[in-house]
Amino acid sequence: MTQPPEGLKLRPLIGRLAPSPTGVLHLGNARSLLLAWLSIRSGGGQLWLRIEDIDGPRVRSGAIESCLEDLQWLGLDWDGDVQIQSERLSRHQQVLDDLLDAGLAYPCVCTRSEVEEAASAPHESSDADAPVYPGSCRGRWSSEQQATAETGRNCAIRLAVNEDAIPFEDRFAGRCEGQIHGDFVIRKRDGTPAYQLAVVVDDIDSGVTEVLRADDLLPSTPRQMLIYRHLGAESPRFTHVPLVVGPDRRRLAKRHGDTSLARYRREGVTPETIIGALAHSIGWVEEGTRCRAQDLLDGFLDGFDLSSLPHEPMIWSDDRLR
Ligand SMILES: [Zn+2]
Repeated sequence: MTQPPEGLKLRPLIGRLAPSPTGVLHLGNARSLLLAWLSIRSGGGQLWLRIEDIDGPRVRSGAIESCLEDLQWLGLDWDGDVQIQSERLSRHQQVLDDLLDAGLAYPCVCTRSEVEEAASAPHESSDADAPVYPGSCRGRWSSEQQATAETGRNCAIRLAVNEDAIPFEDRFAGRCEGQIHGDFVIRKRDGTPAYQLAVVVDDIDSGVTEVLRADDLLPSTPRQMLIYRHLGAESPRFTHVPLVVGPDRRRLAKRHGDTSLARYRREGVTPETIIGALAHSIGWVEEGTRCRAQDLLDGFLDGFDLSSLPHEPMIWSDDRLR
């Protein structure tokens, strides 16, 4: 029997919900999580839940529990045990060591201000707050221990980047140029893995083939694809959907008032109202419709369809719940 050509090999459908519990779940998270859930469940795939708790401020106790409660209240389920990212730090470190040993990454002792000073021409960076690193420490030391011994400083670890871009096709955003913008940090100076590294290692280890998330992560996607490549793994298919923003068109945050699911729940708003408002913003239902996540899923059993999702951010205001 002949093998199917490479491109036609069927990959299993495996996705994940990956909320960060550092802030409570709000309306913005709910829309991306609902879409991620529908995209996997409509294809009969497996869906993991991973709590991403290594990036940003310390997780307050009880945050993970309330995050799970919010998801259940919305009617989103998952398969298997909940994965906690911070319980995988030794695995992340093992991958960092492998990348160092292979010469694909190197220790960097530069402080943030040194990087800013040395960054050559004003360069469009993929993170507004991160200047392009000029590569000062590349090839300087043979090991992290040596770098620390000679400079008395803790090291970050950077990936050595030899390509300008990894172009890719996003399932919603379309063709992306995939600029990488230089050697980037994969472990911070405080010893914690950078989000870029942790998310890729965790997705590889759990066999994830589909990633649907908000498009604030679109600029960092080519960097993640480079890590996949270095680790000899196939990248998942990416779908980046527009963010939810406040009336001032800035990312939904505290300044817009409390849009946490916990608050709406406390005030007696039903999950059917929230899901209906989100579905209306995607063009699936009439304004004022109340429905469950499961009702939306039942409509997609022939295939998940994002063609009515606007490419512009969704502007949230509580009026949408009336
Ligand atoms: Zn450096």
